[in-house]
Amino acid sequence: AFDTLMVGGGPAAAAAAVYAARKGIRTGVAAERFGGQVLDTMSIENLISVPHTDGPKLAAALEEHVREYEVDIMNLQRAVKLLPGQPGEAHEVQFESGASLKSRTLVLATGARWREMGVPGEAEYRNKGVAYCPHCDGPLFKGKRVAVIGGGNSGVEAAIDLAGIVGHVTLFEFMDEMRADEVLQKKLRSLPNVEIILGARTTEVNGDGQRVNGLTYEERASGEIRQVELEGVFVQIGLVPNTEWLKDSPIELSERGEIIVDERGMTSVPGIFAAGDVTTVPYKQIVIAMGEGSKAALSAFDHLIRS
Ligand code: FAD
Repeated sequence: AFDTLMVGGGPAAAAAAVYAARKGIRTGVAAERFGGQVLDTMSIENLISVPHTDGPKLAAALEEHVREYEVDIMNLQRAVKLLPGQPGEAHEVQFESGASLKSRTLVLATGARWREMGVPGEAEYRNKGVAYCPHCDGPLFKGKRVAVIGGGNSGVEAAIDLAGIVGHVTLFEFMDEMRADEVLQKKLRSLPNVEIILGARTTEVNGDGQRVNGLTYEERASGEIRQVELEGVFVQIGLVPNTEWLKDSPIELSERGEIIVDERGMTSVPGIFAAGDVTTVPYKQIVIAMGEGSKAALSAFDHLIRS
């Protein structure tokens, strides 16, 4: 059995593994795809002290750093079930492959995924105009015209944020009203370079083969198809935490399915910690996931020396 096992292989789990291994405890990492969301990222410019990198480079660096230590990395292992142990006993994680692992403490770091629109052009132009993270990619569209898809809190926050950087923002909302908090809507409406289009169903992301050059949508009330010319599309229709595998476990999840953690990163089950995008901790970013992962590992170590 491990002393601590990370489930997941993104920045949160990698940081947790380094911190745990440096305590000299038996450490394992079991991940469906080591690297996590970072693998899907082109340019990364906000990992402090690393002005420019890209996803594959950072993923390789994460793995290299973890491999400096005696850590058992098990890649291509998808966790399907968590069986918490009785107090003092090991916890068990079962995998799709049929394998199962036991560990005295766990750090759950299975991350999240952006909900996609599922329209033609979206996948084709991902990272070529189609973006999901305004904090990450907003500055790449300085002075340009962009769309934000989604009128919930994240969409409206993104539109307000982007309006300060880009030339013009058009926010598209499927329903006839936005769901975002009133204060945010009011702020958005006060901005001179923002247009809001309600009752609009996005049907296609247009491009020239290289990059995005427009968006096609249906005006739902009339059924009319319209097009706008723009250079970027920020999809803000939800971030889904990868917690489906925890649904039958006693780990407490929020309404949105995120793992609820305390200030030490502990879940509702003693000895089981969580970190990164999968948790209720706000602002889903690499540097935050790394910090939270480190914290969860230190908390796991603290738990071990007390039990
Ligand atoms: P993830 O990176 O999501 O890693 C989760 C890990 O868990 C993966 O290894 C996955 O395979 C594994 N996993 C999932 N389910 C299971 C399971 N059931 N069993 C086993 N393993 C499982 N952030 C920035 O700070 N700067 C940026 O420029 C930036 N750009 C981004 C661009 C894109 C396109 C995307 C999608 C995200 C971007 N982000 C950026 C956000 C950043 O990638 C995340 O905040 C960060 O990766 C979260 O780390 P994590 O370790 O919590 O989760």
